[in-house]
Order: sequence, then structure tokens, then C-alpha cells
Amino acid sequence: MNKCIFCQQIKSEQILSETEHFMVIFDINPVQTGHLLIVSKKHYMDIREMSDEVLFDLVKLEKNLVSKIYDIFEVDGVTIAQNNGSIMDIGTHCHVHVIPRYKNDGFWDNQKVVHHENDILKLKENLLKI
Ligand SMILES: [Zn+2]
Repeated sequence: MNKCIFCQQIKSEQILSETEHFMVIFDINPVQTGHLLIVSKKHYMDIREMSDEVLFDLVKLEKNLVSKIYDIFEVDGVTIAQNNGSIMDIGTHCHVHVIPRYKNDGFWDNQKVVHHENDILKLKENLLKI
């Protein structure tokens, strides 16, 4: 049984907007006022599962939401963040955070990440082959 909250628990009254493949809701634990979530209607766990058509729908929606945020709030910018795979919270599926930003909001200052020693040269070589 699928216990994904995005598949099971989003109520129609929570949906602020939608496209063919995605819906927009408020983040239940916003890091900033107006923090939105774009949630796929299908249970994707990774961006690699999405077709180009679905991704195009996503990027258009992201652009429209960024435009709306600029129109409505006096922001300095908008951050878009998407997690993939098992890094997501248990019981969720692919979603994109759309976060209104201000120059002095300290958004990145509060990030505490345990660094891993990755092979940057290998990444650089492989990025040339895209
Ligand atoms: Zn799901």
C-alpha cells in the first residue's frame, strides 16, 4: 500500500493551482512567508523518472510561480530547490520548493552540511559529455 502523503493526503482545498502534471500547495513548514511546493500528480521519486514533456510542464510552472511572487511580494529573488531519491522526507514524493528570498534573509547562512570527499575531477570530466 502506498503511504505517500502527497498521493494520499492532499485535499482539493489545499491546491492553489495546478497544471496537467503538477499541483501547487503551501509548504506546511514554510521557511519564508509564501513558501510554495510544486508536487507532481504522479508518484515520481526522482527527476530522472520524468519525461521531457513532464519536465517542460514543471519548468513552465516554476517560471509562472516566480513571476507571480515577483508581482505580489517585494522580493529580491526566488530560490527553487528540488530533492531526489531517498534524501526526501519519508512518505513524500518528488516536489519542488519555491521560496521567496530577500538579500538579508540568511537563507544559506543556516545550512549546516556534513561535507563528503567527492571526486570533483571525475564530475568535471563527465559534465563535458552531457
Ligand atoms: Zn506519492
